[in-house]
Amino acid sequence: MRIPLLAANWKMYKTPAEARSFVSTFLQSPPPPNKEIAIFPPAIDLPAVLDAAKGSVLHVGAQNMYFVDEGAFTGEISAPMLVAAGATHVLIGHSERRQYFGETDELVNKKLLAALRHKLVPIVCVGEHLDQRDNGETDAVLRRQTSRALENIDAAEVAPIVIAYEPVWAIGTGKTATPEIAAEAHAVIRHEVAQLLGRPASEAMRILYGGSVKPDNAAQLCAQPEIDGALVGGASLDPVSFGKIVAAAP
Ligand code: PEP
Repeated sequence: MRIPLLAANWKMYKTPAEARSFVSTFLQSPPPPNKEIAIFPPAIDLPAVLDAAKGSVLHVGAQNMYFVDEGAFTGEISAPMLVAAGATHVLIGHSERRQYFGETDELVNKKLLAALRHKLVPIVCVGEHLDQRDNGETDAVLRRQTSRALENIDAAEVAPIVIAYEPVWAIGTGKTATPEIAAEAHAVIRHEVAQLLGRPASEAMRILYGGSVKPDNAAQLCAQPEIDGALVGGASLDPVSFGKIVAAAP
């Protein structure tokens, strides 16, 4: 039984005051207890969101972190720092990090190992670009990103890991993958996890869909048995819209 996870990636939006206001509005309608809900604000908003979410069911995570615990790495934040602040989750290898900040599969793997070492719940993002899909390379890209991310991880450690399938052509574009396209990609990822770590690990792993999820398409996407929730960008910036997506997921 995989508990659905609804994750809000705010990207580089919201000041601490705006972040706090989102949480108090969102919590005015109590979220359903049978779903895990996590907010990923910009790092500077973490204290405000953690404070506003205190005592609620909301989990709070970071959008990124570095893999070293401390050192001369100007501008970076480490896993132990996130844990000390109260974060429980972390996004790893979002396509915007891969595309604009040069994150490689190797770096994603190092960050994933660091997140596991510090007991953060990692959401590892994978997904193909449009030209890769058009060239019939989608399955190979997903298999490569998944296997490289999971290098040096064994079945005993894999339980907290969540994978988010986020086709790059669907992120922030308004073009959503059809439920069938998403379910097919999820099946490829799950099969790859089974090959690497065995069937029980792959059956237990949550795989989210991300890419222009909105209140009006969330129910259809999340109804696919292969889809265990959503990673939501733009539509998670408004508490009412994110609340509708949370409610729509079965
Ligand atoms: C994301 O940022 O992970 C994302 C899926 O964005 P959007 O929902 O805006 O496409």
